[in-house]
Amino acid sequence: MDPKYILKKYFGYDAFRPGQEELIHGILSGRDALGIMPTGGGKSLCYQVPALVLPGITLVVSPLISLMQDQVLSLKAAGVSAAYINSSLSGAQMKAVYRNLLSGQYKIVYIAPERLDYGGFGELAAKLQISLLAVDEAHCISQWGQDFRPSYLRILNFVEQLPVRPVLAAFTATATRQVQEDIERILMLRDPVRVVTGFDRRNLYFEVRQPKQKQTELLKILSQRKNQSGIIYFSTRKKVEELCEYLCSVGYSATRYHAGLEEAERRQNQDDFIHDNCLIMVATNAFGMGIDKSNVSFVIHYNMPQSLEAYYQEAGRAGRDGTKADCILLFSGSDAKIAQFLIDQPPENQNLTEEQWEALHWRDIRRLNCMIDYCKTTRCLRKFILDYFGQQAPERCDNCGTCAVDYVPKDITKEAQMILSCVVRIHDKLNYYVGAATVCRVLSGSKEKKLLQLGLDHLSTYGLMMNVSRERIRDLVSHLESEGYLITEREHQTLRP
Ligand code: ADP
Ligand code: MG
Ligand code: ZN
Repeated sequence: MDPKYILKKYFGYDAFRPGQEELIHGILSGRDALGIMPTGGGKSLCYQVPALVLPGITLVVSPLISLMQDQVLSLKAAGVSAAYINSSLSGAQMKAVYRNLLSGQYKIVYIAPERLDYGGFGELAAKLQISLLAVDEAHCISQWGQDFRPSYLRILNFVEQLPVRPVLAAFTATATRQVQEDIERILMLRDPVRVVTGFDRRNLYFEVRQPKQKQTELLKILSQRKNQSGIIYFSTRKKVEELCEYLCSVGYSATRYHAGLEEAERRQNQDDFIHDNCLIMVATNAFGMGIDKSNVSFVIHYNMPQSLEAYYQEAGRAGRDGTKADCILLFSGSDAKIAQFLIDQPPENQNLTEEQWEALHWRDIRRLNCMIDYCKTTRCLRKFILDYFGQQAPERCDNCGTCAVDYVPKDITKEAQMILSCVVRIHDKLNYYVGAATVCRVLSGSKEKKLLQLGLDHLSTYGLMMNVSRERIRDLVSHLESEGYLITEREHQTLRP
């Protein structure tokens, strides 16, 4: 059967989204696959469509119980026989699912990773025709990812004890190069079709604010977005509860989610939000992985997350329907301190050697520093994010707090003058222009030999910005460039007015 036909018949869509067709064709031709697509990019269809074309069944490993239930419900509604296996099933329900599996009733079966080697599933699976094993949220297999789940490591054992190796397909939204390599290596993907679709989400507006009073600012933001659906992330459960209660008391339709709530309440609140019974979800970062709600029109972070990966994944839950949506982060200096404190805590119940912990710790510090840089940068926020994920982007996007506002903040004009005059002074002295790095060194009063040999330490602008960090000076230079006050001359990479 033709994939396009299935797309239309079962899912009601006319065309594939970027990357879907390539992955589906790869899988159908018997190749392993690795799909890195942004949240909302349509990863589920990449294994659901092949599942309907291939003989036998497709097994989908997924970490989230509520998500499995949703997906199975909507598959059933579309006329696809599907089931899930996880800890929410009673013994009798499990038996029924096993029976139906053996009699070949299902095309798609979702399974929690810890169930792969539990309750005799391994022996049962050996009797089935499993054509495809899809691993959703595959970044959970990597210790470098932010949601490492040791149970994901069982997938490989499971595959190895099957009489016939199925096609393996792994999907995730958040994967730096390193996580991507981990997924391929640990799952032992064989020459997979790789599709990495763009990370840019043009319809999302990014902004960072540093208000004196976060709560006041939050209420202002909400009052400008009446009747819109959105998520507000807090770093602590206590704040979630306080704010949710407060918002409800002043008439907002809000609900809450954090890992300390009973499973039943979490489930209920999530449903209320997804089905628009409640417009605002107040949550910790426990909320949201795999959530498919298309009309989220804002995601506000009350606290800074610990990494840009985490931030982009959470903020990316806005605007999945492609309409304009806002991602606003409320930053304060204490966020950085708290994040640093949390990162410095040794992990509980993870059997890490000192060396491993140290490596992870350094990784987390590097990530945190990038996150802080994002909050402080004067450059285009979208470019900042895309650079981080290794994707090319223009200097300006016109849809972020930096580009859209289009102003030179007052407090930088003095610094701007220092930089411009330094560029001119250097030229006066040497009769040629130098690169941005040298300009920064002169301004920060570097004692580097080359500077001293050129006599640049005698300039009036030498050391003028001694108290400003190198990064900040570099950012200001970029800003002046983006505003057209300075240009980098292509051939020699020198900076001139
Ligand atoms: P992901 O898992 O990549 O975050 P999903 O698989 O949950 O994304 O898909 C997000 C939404 O996009 C779903 O509502 C899905 O039905 C929709 N979608 C997926 N593929 C297509 C397509 N080809 N055309 C239109 N909508 C699609
Ligand atoms: Mg998904
Ligand atoms: Zn921008």
